[in-house]
Amino acid sequence: MTKVSCIEVRDVSFNYNGNPVLENITFTVEEGEYLGIIGPNGGGKTTLFKIILGLLKPATGEVRIYGEPEPRFGRRHIIGYVPQRAMAEVYFPATVEEIVRSGRTARLGLLKRASKDDRAAIDRAMEITDVTRLKKRLIGELSGGERQRVFIARALASEPKILILDEPDVGVDVTSQEKFYTFIEDLNRNLGITVLLISHDIDVVAHQTKSVLCLNRKLVCHGSPKKFINEEYMQELYGKKVKFILHGH
Ligand code: ADP
Repeated sequence: MTKVSCIEVRDVSFNYNGNPVLENITFTVEEGEYLGIIGPNGGGKTTLFKIILGLLKPATGEVRIYGEPEPRFGRRHIIGYVPQRAMAEVYFPATVEEIVRSGRTARLGLLKRASKDDRAAIDRAMEITDVTRLKKRLIGELSGGERQRVFIARALASEPKILILDEPDVGVDVTSQEKFYTFIEDLNRNLGITVLLISHDIDVVAHQTKSVLCLNRKLVCHGSPKKFINEEYMQELYGKKVKFILHGH
């Protein structure tokens, strides 16, 4: 099977008010990949995601999504994004269904009424994530694990080819976390969705993802977790003080 590049990051640099955050980052993500992104706090992971999404413009370099520098209709329906702390920002009185539907807006446009296809995609996103029975509930009433599934459903409502998750397991207990990662693996394997996952949990990345990218302003390493998730690279990435314990690896 020929490999298709769905994300190409070429020589991307970025700074906030002159402070460099990313320097000359180059890598490619193939369609169907499950890529973990790790690195210390402030290493530029979220900034890189925002550049991939087209929310921030790099100072140098470019990002191509399926070969296109700037897709005609934007990137927002090709890429489903679950931002950091999405799970915590739930103080507004919205139902599960309303939140999932809002994930379709990028595709729908704000003023258009939902078509049959739109409604089917919204229902399917709720089914896949098993939140249909919760659809009339207020998001603020749900557990961390349930909320997490709602925000994944929201990202899936636009039928994305790529799913980007920024620390999706913050505030979720261990059992829900395990179920969650099995679910993400299924999306990747069965629906062929390319997944990019930022995680502070090296153990999760080592066991779940097919490839890993280590970022600390520069690209420290990119390749197989087996090759790179070891003491030497992790100390380079996080500094000498990191105690390196990897369960069952
Ligand atoms: P990570 O996701 O790896 O923790 P970020 O991409 O969030 O890293 O941040 C990289 C650096 O950029 C940090 O030093 C952070 O303080 C800084 N930064 C992030 N967002 C902004 C912003 N909007 N304005 C100024 N500096 C920012």
